Amino acid sequence: MRDITIDAASAEHAETIVQAVKDLPHIKVLDVYDRTFTLHRGGKISVVSKIPLRGQADLAMAYTPGVGRICNAIAEEPQRVYELTVKGNMVAIVTDGSAVLGLGNLGAEASMPVMEGKAMLFKEFGGLDAFPICLATQDTDEIVETVKRIAPVFGGVNLEDIAAPRCFEIEARLQRELNIPVFHDDQHGTAIVTLAALTNALKLVNKNISDVRIVINGAGAAGVAIATLLQKDGANEIIMCDSKGILSNDRTDLNPQKRSFAVDQSGNLADAMKGADVFLGVSAPGVVTPEMVKSMATDPIVFAMANPIPEIQPELVKNDVAVMATGRSDYPNQINNVLAFPGVFRGALDCRASTFTTNMYLQAALAIASLIKTDELDREHIVPSVFDERVAKVVAAAVQRAAREDGVAQG
Ligand code: NAP
Ligand code: MG
Repeated sequence: MRDITIDAASAEHAETIVQAVKDLPHIKVLDVYDRTFTLHRGGKISVVSKIPLRGQADLAMAYTPGVGRICNAIAEEPQRVYELTVKGNMVAIVTDGSAVLGLGNLGAEASMPVMEGKAMLFKEFGGLDAFPICLATQDTDEIVETVKRIAPVFGGVNLEDIAAPRCFEIEARLQRELNIPVFHDDQHGTAIVTLAALTNALKLVNKNISDVRIVINGAGAAGVAIATLLQKDGANEIIMCDSKGILSNDRTDLNPQKRSFAVDQSGNLADAMKGADVFLGVSAPGVVTPEMVKSMATDPIVFAMANPIPEIQPELVKNDVAVMATGRSDYPNQINNVLAFPGVFRGALDCRASTFTTNMYLQAALAIASLIKTDELDREHIVPSVFDERVAKVVAAAVQRAAREDGVAQG
């Protein structure tokens, strides 16, 4: 008899192995570990000090009495907080837990593993210290007030997984009322990476963004931000759909963000997709059929980004599309926000930007796209890998340059 312990990456993997060995003679399963749970025990991040505390002398400088002189210096000249504290490298990852990944309204505590993971990515790819701030409120006024009151500690605010349409007002009010940059990643991170990928996909099919007909399915946080950024880059013809079909001028149920993209055409998604050059899905699993893709213009570009299950499975249309992308890591062309937010914040914090501008997002997108040289570009390679170390650097430089052009850099 052999005793074995199963150490698997997920409960499903473990179960598969348990089933596979259960009838084998001489084997007894002693224990089953889920490696993903094990990895999360005690959390994924910690706060560490940068200064050694070796004795009384160190203590007297790092803490009282020495620290008192530093406090006075900042009180006399508040801008010195950037030089003498963590503020200039510190990002608040703020959520109300109302739209956690694709999982829904799970609340503050259950959102923490995502926000800790996000903090890891900020550190790993942007060299930034980021901290999860998971709020026990989903009230717009309370969220805005809370973030304003904790803002002294942070150089920037990353809003995360806050449901639409509340996220639009929260971001707009904080941008207006704070003099540190505020960024809702589910909107602008997605928009930046989508535009980067679309820029390269259009190059492959020899089409120009100003000439193509673009259908965006989903008019929530991601859809609205994508449409705004595409227009900034010169897109002229965008048709947006939500769960009720095309955002048309004759609808009376549209919120202000949706209304600003309403068109004269009406109908459903299938109507919108006829003859379209580009389909961008940020909506729901499986809502696109192969027939809809076949009704598009020649060399169609299809980004099916609903997570974790795309609007249409790539294998169903692989011979009918010129370029296909999804949000998943197990298919080519992953549209992943981690290509954007670490560099975006690195650039903004390095020049002490007071806010973000659409031009900063546009330049970030073009910088990501530019990393794929013409001779490397192919239908399965339109965006760089998330592990490409050049990404955050070129994004940070582009964002900083744009902030200076736009007059929002303060340092
Ligand atoms: P959201 O704010 O909740 O918006 C979802 C939008 O999709 C809403 O406008 C909703 O319509 C619409 N919708 C739902 N079912 C639909 C259907 N059957 N047909 C057409 N539209 C439908 O969510 P979000 O943050 O924008 O994210 C949307 C999706 O995109 C999620 O699956 C998310 O995981 C994915 N996403 C992927 C990436 C990525 O891959 N990098 C990034 C961001 C988001 P109503 O307004 O009528 O309710
Ligand atoms: Mg998110």
